[in-house]
Amino acid sequence: MASIFTKIIQGEIPCELVLQTNSEIAFLDINPSSKGHTLVVPKCEVARLEELPAEDAAALMQTLQRVARAVSRSLDNSDYNIVLNNGTNAGQEVPHVHFHIIPRPAGSSRPFRNKEAYAEGEMSRYGQQIRECLD
Ligand code: 5GP
Repeated sequence: MASIFTKIIQGEIPCELVLQTNSEIAFLDINPSSKGHTLVVPKCEVARLEELPAEDAAALMQTLQRVARAVSRSLDNSDYNIVLNNGTNAGQEVPHVHFHIIPRPAGSSRPFRNKEAYAEGEMSRYGQQIRECLD
């Protein structure tokens, strides 16, 4: 079944459109974390970032940068977070990969405050494990 974002891409569900290219769509989030919160979605429907073909990922990054610049400019050069929730444990609700651009005007509460500490030697083990998994 098509994702809700594919339905938006196909025009079956309305959206507040920001930009449409051959390979992406950008529109306002219906339930924003802050006003101007924008989603950038590849038209290729895959759930996770690593499933996106390399060419689509490259195009997505260009569009993300373009839309983020516009979101910021439109809000007096606001700061912003770019977030991608990859999988349900990461908070992903719509299984169609997408970036969030979340404006953070002056006075916004600071996000990502939760920190974990590494035990002795643990940081190098994590680094080694990740390096061994590189393609
Ligand atoms: P996720 O949790 O999957 O990273 O984020 C999904 C986002 O899509 C949520 O922030 C939610 O508000 C937004 N969203 C879900 N359904 C719709 C919709 O029909 N229209 C729009 N514009 N946004 C939606």
